[in-house]
Amino acid sequence: MTHTTAHAYAAPAPKAPLERTTITRRALGEHDILIDIKYAGICHSDIHTVRGEWGHETFPIVPGHEIAGIVSATGPGVTRYAVGDRVGVGCFVDSCRECDNCRAGLQQYCTGEPGMTGTYADTDRHGDFTHGGYSTNIVVDENYALRIPESIPLDAAAPLLCAGITLYSPLAHWQAGPGKKVAVIGLGGLGHMGVKIAHAMGAEVTVLSQSLRKKDDGLRLGADHYHATSDPATFEALAGTFDLILNTVSADLDLNAYFGLLKTDGTLVQLGAPENALTVAPAALFRQRRSMAGSMIGGIPETQEMLDFCGEHGIASEIEVIRADQINEAYERVLASDVRYRFVIDTATI
Ligand code: NAP
Ligand code: ZN
Ligand code: ZN
Repeated sequence: MTHTTAHAYAAPAPKAPLERTTITRRALGEHDILIDIKYAGICHSDIHTVRGEWGHETFPIVPGHEIAGIVSATGPGVTRYAVGDRVGVGCFVDSCRECDNCRAGLQQYCTGEPGMTGTYADTDRHGDFTHGGYSTNIVVDENYALRIPESIPLDAAAPLLCAGITLYSPLAHWQAGPGKKVAVIGLGGLGHMGVKIAHAMGAEVTVLSQSLRKKDDGLRLGADHYHATSDPATFEALAGTFDLILNTVSADLDLNAYFGLLKTDGTLVQLGAPENALTVAPAALFRQRRSMAGSMIGGIPETQEMLDFCGEHGIASEIEVIRADQINEAYERVLASDVRYRFVIDTATI
């Protein structure tokens, strides 16, 4: 089999609107699968990337790392998937496979050279510049694809591949569950998955949003409490409350006030990836032996575990399906915190 052509939407230059283009995908190797992409979620990371906020210099970029589709061809050595299977691809498509982290299934923290291979805007082991999910197909090694449970519709499953796992992993690592109080800062794509998953794990969940505008949604999604961070009374009322706070905010945020909301030994996990550095006052941490941590997506085994968990608990993303020619408009709405709660591109419209 030779190269495959795909239609795609790409950012031609930093901050330029995305436009329709054509790309090629490599010929199927021994362990490759060809995926007919059905849906691709729009993650805020796509926006940071194409706006040049993370320093990428090689354009054009075809974003998209929340991919859901159907296997349409397999390489000769493929054993895990067959034509017709429902599969997903997340934020990376390869890693060194040999370092301790890769062997432990923590491919997202690959320490080999050159580390994990991003699904887009990266160079893979074949020397190709990677192109993401805003496209009609993708070729991926079978070991870097995930199985999507039958019970989850493909469109609402797509955002699980980044937003879902990014919240599932820290919730599992810091053992959210019965008796634990968890707060989620920001009710966007990541945040709303955090609310659903933490609730399903049995934790008591609080949303900390800029305003009470989305309160009804937050409670419906599984939050027990909902507070506006624009109201200083929130920080007094909730002082010393939480075991775990997950910060999903995509913009600069003064975190020092939030540390005061943690219990003794509580942890604030940074998930949002704004362009600028964070400033933490030492006393905000040492006063109650509080911790600050970070967490990045999840490895292949944990991503599969998350998908299966979501399948069993009837969890998927709250989505607004859009046509490809609405991508630029959707980006503006994400930037204005006007998304409920993930835009998903119907790739048939590319
Ligand atoms: P999103 O849908 O835009 O959600 C971000 C939310 O942050 C907004 O809905 C809003 O919630 C809040 N927010 C936005 N601007 C704010 C401001 N100026 N002050 C306070 N709150 C603000 O974005 P997303 O796709 O969930 O991604 C969130 C961040 O996580 C991005 O930086 C993304 O790059 C990063 N990310 C990290 C990982 C990882 O592995 N660590 C994975 C994926 C994404 P309210 O309206 O409720 O206030
Ligand atoms: Zn993402
Ligand atoms: Zn590795």
